[in-house]
Amino acid sequence: MIPAHEALFRLHAGNRRFVAHARDPDPAPGRNIELTLEQEPFAIILGCSDARVPAEMVFDQGLGDLFVIRVAGNIIAPSLVGSVEFAAERFHTRLVVVLGHSRCGAILATIEELRKPTERQSPNLRSIVDRVRPSVEGLLATPLGKDHDTLVHHAVRANIRASADHLRHGSRVLEQLIQYDGLRVVGAEYSLETGVVDFFDGAPELVPSPSS
Ligand SMILES: [Zn+2]
Repeated sequence: MIPAHEALFRLHAGNRRFVAHARDPDPAPGRNIELTLEQEPFAIILGCSDARVPAEMVFDQGLGDLFVIRVAGNIIAPSLVGSVEFAAERFHTRLVVVLGHSRCGAILATIEELRKPTERQSPNLRSIVDRVRPSVEGLLATPLGKDHDTLVHHAVRANIRASADHLRHGSRVLEQLIQYDGLRVVGAEYSLETGVVDFFDGAPELVPSPSS
């Protein structure tokens, strides 16, 4: 079992390789044969579906390394929490990362919807917007709401924090694993502009922030 702090260090190092375009040149030999028998992912990633943010690539990881769950806006819903519970229990994975990103389309759609509600939105799409809405609504009423780019930046982070918090406190299984078995839930933002992942929520003491 790989402890959370070591898993986080691996992701951080992988992202640095990705940013430097220096991919890991030495994947473990025979790994494909082993992987038909079992998987031992060292991190669970709940990330956005955005085509520009594939977790395996931005963390420079290979087959079998990451258990990845992707959904527009990296929102939380019961089946997504269930997927995290499954991997944490079954594979003893001890790090969960909620991976959002700059200029997320789900955040932009939610801001648009709050400013100019549409009646014909599909109920399925609405279920995503409704889950992002609480993270955006409060910000719209503050001075941040006046500047679009600043609003989007803060809304992306608020939405990541909300999802991470939900995983920490919205599941009895995960709560127990956090309390007694070293599970850690961390919130991170990927920058489309620089390729850097900033682990800003729940791990500041483990990895340096790119802005610090
Ligand atoms: Zn997105």
